[in-house]
Amino acid sequence: MLYQFLRFPGGKPKAVTLSYDDGNTADMKFNDIITRYGLKCTFNLLGSLVEDESRLTVDYIKSEILGRGHEVANHGYDHRSQIKIRPIEGIRELLDCRLTLEKTFGTIIKGFAYPDTSPNSYTHSDTYERVKNILREVDVSYARCAGEDNNKFLLPSDFHKWMPSVHHDNPEIMEYIDEFTSMNIDEFYIANRLPRLFFLWGHTSEFDDNDNWDHLEAVCQKLSGKSDIWYATNIEICEYVKAYESLSYSADGTMIYNPTLYTIWFDVDGRLYSVEPGETLRL
Ligand SMILES: [Zn+2]
Repeated sequence: MLYQFLRFPGGKPKAVTLSYDDGNTADMKFNDIITRYGLKCTFNLLGSLVEDESRLTVDYIKSEILGRGHEVANHGYDHRSQIKIRPIEGIRELLDCRLTLEKTFGTIIKGFAYPDTSPNSYTHSDTYERVKNILREVDVSYARCAGEDNNKFLLPSDFHKWMPSVHHDNPEIMEYIDEFTSMNIDEFYIANRLPRLFFLWGHTSEFDDNDNWDHLEAVCQKLSGKSDIWYATNIEICEYVKAYESLSYSADGTMIYNPTLYTIWFDVDGRLYSVEPGETLRL
């Protein structure tokens, strides 16, 4: 065996996920469009605004966001940057938002998107470790960053510093999407067959501000309906990757035990395998 690479559910080599912030009323129009195209999104909400019925109502979030298979995640109780407040306030921002969302929606909330300042712009090298410790203590599974668009399309090496591929207003977005969707990963050089992810983020109110909902339609059209892409929320991708990383191997790698509750897919030297929950696969 030379190399083993993760494959997403169904053996798919690519995934697409979306993440939109702040819980604006424009989320409703956005939700209708992306859902029509079969895309999945994580909506990052503020604890302090959950009861503000002039934004999204609780009933709407329950039935039309969670009910359509999208994710609700933590964006801080009052949208305060973790590094511009004392650590104890940072903990409270995270925890108060999480407690509010979980109590309101009756679901476990382990995702987070950094409000205002994400680790790529921290000026002191030890600041990220301090914030990451807080995230871990509050049991946050992943933390989404912003501000460094890229066309690497790789899964994060650190889920607490998860940089999306692109903001929807990036002038190069259509080229990025073409590059991503045209990748035939199974034909890449055998050492480069890593799974790929296209991760789009933004604020839905920006489509109102710029009067460019047609741009969203065009992005969705290009990304949707591909048989080699898994369309998933942020937490679905994070939990699947963590399940893959939980596989247990014999020393020579020929026996693979799956201790998780997921069916896990992977490629070994160009051949696709899956291992069921509780199964030991012999290559
Ligand atoms: Zn925000």
